[in-house]
Amino acid sequence: MDELLVYNILLIIVFVSAIIIYISLLFISAPYGRFVRRGWGLTINARTAWIVMELPAVIVFFILFLLGSQKTNIVAIIFLLLWMIHYIHRTFIYPIIMRGGSRRFPILIISFSILFNSINGYLNGRYLFYFSPVYTSDWIRDPRFIIGLALFLVGFIINIHSDSVLRKLRKTDGAGYKIPYGGFFRYISSANYFGEIIEWIGWSVMTWSLPGLAFALFTIANLAPRALSNHKWYMDKFPEYPKNRKAIIPFIY
Ligand code: NDP
Repeated sequence: MDELLVYNILLIIVFVSAIIIYISLLFISAPYGRFVRRGWGLTINARTAWIVMELPAVIVFFILFLLGSQKTNIVAIIFLLLWMIHYIHRTFIYPIIMRGGSRRFPILIISFSILFNSINGYLNGRYLFYFSPVYTSDWIRDPRFIIGLALFLVGFIINIHSDSVLRKLRKTDGAGYKIPYGGFFRYISSANYFGEIIEWIGWSVMTWSLPGLAFALFTIANLAPRALSNHKWYMDKFPEYPKNRKAIIPFIY
């Protein structure tokens, strides 16, 4: 079968599955972290799970860069660097420094994540380094690139900072929970998810591409319902939880 046809089918599958995932997660919280529970099959520890789940995003994207026709294109190199900064952190640094890495993580969720990261890495990498009309060096001065890059970097910083606030709530590798304060936690319960969503919206603007848009929508579909569940969980667990804090969008939602 023609590769472009397979590519387009996979792209449509990601758009459609974003809708299905969004609706499903409004009713069923993914069973990891604070919502881990029995009945979801075999589990491994969370630290290993994060490394295994995210690794395909690093490998697939990098291989497609090497196989592509844009190896000397400055714009393609910038896209590669940004993707790698995010995913090398998420795959190798985040799991090592996380506290609570011995918690159980279902293999079922890991399998879905491996599948998604492989397909998403393929869709983004193959488009940027092969199928796309070539990004000329003028793209760096295009407002879409500049605004998207700014969003990506701001989102990345918010995500990293928020995860570090959560990490500091645990002095040891235990699994207790406290109310997070500071940074975007002043306004929302899931500041790390907010940062992640801003980051991939930035990516979609910066690349001005359908696979970038599909990834941003999938991230929203995955994280927005979980942020709502987190928010409700905090309010149920902590009577003193700040009443003016929203779930995922400051001052709004
Ligand atoms: P969480 O916010 O649920 O947890 C992050 C870490 O902080 C976990 O180790 C968690 O422990 C701990 N933690 C959370 N809340 C508290 C608290 N109140 N007190 C003490 N410790 C706490 O994030 P996720 O695990 O869902 O995601 C981790 C990262 O991966 C995030 O940066 C997220 O944005 C990103 N991600 C991206 C996705 C995407 O679609 N692009 C999908 C999923 C995640 P424990 O595990 O024990 O709950």
